[in-house]
Amino acid sequence: MFSQVRRHEARFVQEDEEGPAEWGLAVELAGMSEVWRRLLELHVSGRDGRCTGCRSPVRAAPHWPCTLYRAAAHARRIAADGPRRPAG
Ligand SMILES: [Zn+2]
Repeated sequence: MFSQVRRHEARFVQEDEEGPAEWGLAVELAGMSEVWRRLLELHVSGRDGRCTGCRSPVRAAPHWPCTLYRAAAHARRIAADGPRRPAG
């Protein structure tokens, strides 16, 4: 019984490693389709491989896909799948 719980936790941590910040943001964005759609439009790869949506005059843009794009892409997936409840 105890080992089952530990295995469940291990799986959860593994999934979380992909980017907990992105996932948290994605879950919030999922309910706001206008926001994540706009993010997906704005945050695209430029010719230099950097995100055009994150481009700023004061600092270099991150390489695409940036955190916001990935969060928006997750949000789109969550919105497409519908709300999910954790088992148990
Ligand atoms: Zn970006």
